[in-house]
Amino acid sequence: MLGSMMTKPLLISDLIRHAAKYHADTEIVSRETDGTMHTTTWSGVENQSRRLAAALGKMGLRTGDRVATIAWNNHRHLKIWFAVSGGGMVCHTLNPRLFPEQLIFIVNDAEDRVILFDKTFLPLVTGTREHLKTVEHFICMGPHDSEVAAALPGVIFFDDLVGGETAYDWPELDETTPCSLCYTSGTTGNPKGVLYSNRSTMLHTLAISLPDALNLSAREVVLPVVPMFHANAWGIPYAAAMTGSKLVMPGPGLDGDSLVGLIDDYRVSLALGVPTIWQMLLASAAKSGSRLESLKRNVIGGSAAAPSMIATFRDKYDCETIHAWGMTETSPLGSANQIKAKHKGLDADAMAALRLGQGRPPFGIELRIVDDKGAPLPEDGHTEGALQARGYWVVDTYFGKQESALTEDGWFDTGDVSTIDPDGYMVIRDRTKDIIKSGGEWISSVDLENIAVAHPGIAMAAAIGARHPKWDERPIIVAVKADGADPSEAEVLAMFEDKVAKWQIPDAVVFTDAIPLNGTGKMLKNKLREKFGDTLIERGA
Ligand code: ADP
Repeated sequence: MLGSMMTKPLLISDLIRHAAKYHADTEIVSRETDGTMHTTTWSGVENQSRRLAAALGKMGLRTGDRVATIAWNNHRHLKIWFAVSGGGMVCHTLNPRLFPEQLIFIVNDAEDRVILFDKTFLPLVTGTREHLKTVEHFICMGPHDSEVAAALPGVIFFDDLVGGETAYDWPELDETTPCSLCYTSGTTGNPKGVLYSNRSTMLHTLAISLPDALNLSAREVVLPVVPMFHANAWGIPYAAAMTGSKLVMPGPGLDGDSLVGLIDDYRVSLALGVPTIWQMLLASAAKSGSRLESLKRNVIGGSAAAPSMIATFRDKYDCETIHAWGMTETSPLGSANQIKAKHKGLDADAMAALRLGQGRPPFGIELRIVDDKGAPLPEDGHTEGALQARGYWVVDTYFGKQESALTEDGWFDTGDVSTIDPDGYMVIRDRTKDIIKSGGEWISSVDLENIAVAHPGIAMAAAIGARHPKWDERPIIVAVKADGADPSEAEVLAMFEDKVAKWQIPDAVVFTDAIPLNGTGKMLKNKLREKFGDTLIERGA
């Protein structure tokens, strides 16, 4: 016997239909590529998404075809997402910060048939075009533009496309139809594609909207600073449609001053981004004197949030930081740090300590830690192991590959090292390849970085293992000084006293002008190891 309820497939088109019907006049504010502001509504987004889906169908695109974007977070990008996925095609977000060779590899690997791009990225498109073997149409996201038309013969303009057909019904699809494709940033080796389904995305959307995850609702004004090309902006555009949140899309203005301006002008209550963004934003707010008054919560993920940053948001701006963890392979949300009822009475220090970690998995994800033979380890809050995940929105097989990416017993190995406590709170200790191995003992680079950046004269710090004749590796700090500050090596090293065991204190601090970041704002520690790996040997260790 089967249950006798309606069997309705879980489809992305339902999200946009819901938002247009029940949140029709809720605004979507967006910064255009020329810096001006544009306002539409959820009903406006749905209307143009439908027109675009119809136009793409007329261009010959079929269910499962890949349609790529190279774009900022803006209203047209949002419309493209719903048009493409709602229409049964696969929205493939390309990261414009990748090297052109990587971009070419990814487009060819995905066999994208169309690329929609913001005018900002015209040079990238014209520069790579001849190598993009499968792309039939280039669509510039904006009105007709003679400069673009001259540089890219045959280009189509978004605003012309959505001026046409309105009679279009979202197709009924199987819920396992793919809806979007993201590639891992490929810090090592070629990037790999993760092909999400309507079903996995809808379940992820439901889960991330819950109060114990990102806590979205129709009462929020949400600023997704995290780009739509970085693990689908952590699913925020979908969750905003599901919950009817107002969206403020930052477009190309990702600098601190622009973001502070958006938060204050549009009364943003929840903003989401990687630590490097917050660092710039805090510097701008301190300079301008903004109180970030409307900002009640922010979500930090993508890399570890430093305790000093969480404390500044809490103590100076009365803003609660939700520290979250995830990866492209987990759609991406794998955990978020929200407290339980029993934690309400904790004193300030214990509460601060609890909120530092990456939090608990929402329903739909399971996490475990294992040893190097794959045997599960105790979840006691102390034992460190390789973090593995499984669940409704975790990858099984990479795009275009035959073999499953999972362990024999069906788990995905994240490449992170973490602890998990009996309540399920997970703390990322490091990435497997970044952990510092000193004389057979492991030292968490994250711990050392957190201590170094707490020095007011340090803007950014990376802890890496430098080669050492006796201990194989010893930790050193590569640091960028804050504007106008000039801390000495000894001052920074003094920060570590009494905070870590003596043998974990770094052997050196080297200052540099900038730490290289990958396309999603993560420190490229392999580059730092190449450049500074011999520091101790050069100093006579
Ligand atoms: P890539 O692995 O190619 O950089 P992702 O953007 O999917 O691409 O990155 C996922 C990784 O980012 C995780 O495996 C983890 O190492 C790191 N990460 C994500 N969020 C956090 C966090 N809150 N704290 C520490 N590390 C994080």
